[in-house]
This record gives sequence, structure tokens and C-alpha cells, in this order.
Amino acid sequence: MEIRIAEYAGFCYGVKKAIDDTEEILKTEGPSKALGALIHNPLEVDRLKKLGLQVIDTAAEAEGERVIIRSHGEAKQVIEQLETSKNTVFNCTCPYVSKIHRIVSDYYAKKYGIIIIGDSTHPEVIGINGWCDNSATIIDTVDAARLLEIDGPTCIVGQTTFNTELWENMINILRSKSEQVVVFNTICDATAKRQQAARELASQADCMIVVGGKNSSNSKKLYEICRSICAATYFVESADELSYEEFAGDVVIGITAGASTPDWVIQEIINKFRRRGNC
Ligand code: SF4
Repeated sequence: MEIRIAEYAGFCYGVKKAIDDTEEILKTEGPSKALGALIHNPLEVDRLKKLGLQVIDTAAEAEGERVIIRSHGEAKQVIEQLETSKNTVFNCTCPYVSKIHRIVSDYYAKKYGIIIIGDSTHPEVIGINGWCDNSATIIDTVDAARLLEIDGPTCIVGQTTFNTELWENMINILRSKSEQVVVFNTICDATAKRQQAARELASQADCMIVVGGKNSSNSKKLYEICRSICAATYFVESADELSYEEFAGDVVIGITAGASTPDWVIQEIINKFRRRGNC
């Protein structure tokens, strides 16, 4: 048995920064609230809760205390509501997401229509839409791109974790509909690199393990990519979901992990195989 870890597996820059900043805030300022799960990984959220983090679902629950905005970012109105309600706001929005907020805000002010390519239910996309008064058209399929009518100047941005191939296909369709389209490829480099490294490893491995929270969209996308190349792909949140016996034999096991998967979870899985598997 051989274990290979994909390059760029695990925390991206924005998530690592948000987690590091949160640990520092909890240490220096004391117990604080996070608006929404800080990252899409329940194991890591549980660890932070033990350090004094409380997760709240709405800005109204902040109640004049310390509030952390997660790396996904929030709608403009939500941040303003928090700031005017005497809360102390620590904005841990990833700088790459903040850049999308600025683009959307600027072009909306210039009377452009806004299209977001991404998952309409994802907090990052909901947050981005909140920088153009929730007026964006949100699509995430080639069929939706084909059906969409583009009317007047239009600015297109993408969810940072969107699939790069799908993005290219959709953009080609949208560009062919109008010359008044301005496109910002806001897919994060980290995502593209992680997806490409996962593709390469999946083509070499006998089986792939994708580690990530079940509610993590970028982990789910990694799973889909790996499974399209390597049929024996497993999506797990922790080492507990894997049994060594399933994988025993002369196999190459590839491991990759979503942007919200902490190193310690990946390491637990590696250790589980290493203890039994002579690898
Ligand atoms: S994937 Fe990229 S944009 Fe999203 S949080 Fe990570 S570094 Fe930031």
C-alpha cells in the first residue's frame, strides 16, 4: 500500500488566515461570536467552540458583543447592521472575496447588471449578491447560461471555488450573447491548483479519498472531479469513516482535501493507514 497526498490539499490562504485570526481574537479578546459556521468543517468548528467561539445564525444574535465575519464574507447590509449595533466587528473575509465585493459594488453603481456564476445557496454567493442589493442573476449550469438573456451592460463574476472547466464553458456561451459583457474570473488560484493536482493524482491512484466537511461545496466538487477519473473515490469527513480493511492490498491510495479541511484531520487519516499498512 502506498499513500500519496495531492499537492495543495487542505486549508487555503483565506481559511487559514481566518482560523489563525480567530484563535488570536479568542486568546487576546476573549469569547466571541462567529456569524455562521466559521468554516465548513464541523470538526474544526467544534475545536474552536472549545476555545470560546459561539456560532450565531443572524446578525441580531450578536447582542453588542465581539463578532467575527468568516472568510466567505457577508452582505454589505449585514456588516453595516453589525457595525451600527455597537458590536465589535472583526472582519475575516478572505481578501480575494473582498475583491469580488468591490467589483460587484463598483459595477452595480455604474448601472451594470450583475451575473454571479456559482451556487445560489452558498454563503459566499449570498454575501456577494448583498453588494448589489441582491439584484444578481445567479447561475451554475451550462443550460442556465444557454437560456439566459443578457440585456445591457453586464458584469460577470464567479464563486471563488467554482469548477474552472464549467466556468470556461459558461463564459464562452455568455460572451457569445453580447459584446457588453465584462468578465472577471474570480475563481481562486488555490481552487484551480487544488482541482488540477487532484485530477493528476486521481489518474495515478487505485482509489482516492477526498477529505472534507459534508457541507463544504469545494470538497464536494473535488469529490466529483476525482470520481469522474477514479471510480473508487470516497468522500469522508474524518478517519472514523474509513476502515483499513477496505483498502488493504497492493494499492496506491491518493488523498486530497477541501479548502476547509484542517491538517490534523488529514494527518489522522494518514496515521490510520500507516499504523496498519506498512506505508
Ligand atoms: S478558496 Fe481562495 S478565495 Fe476562497 S477563502 Fe480560500 S483563498 Fe480565499
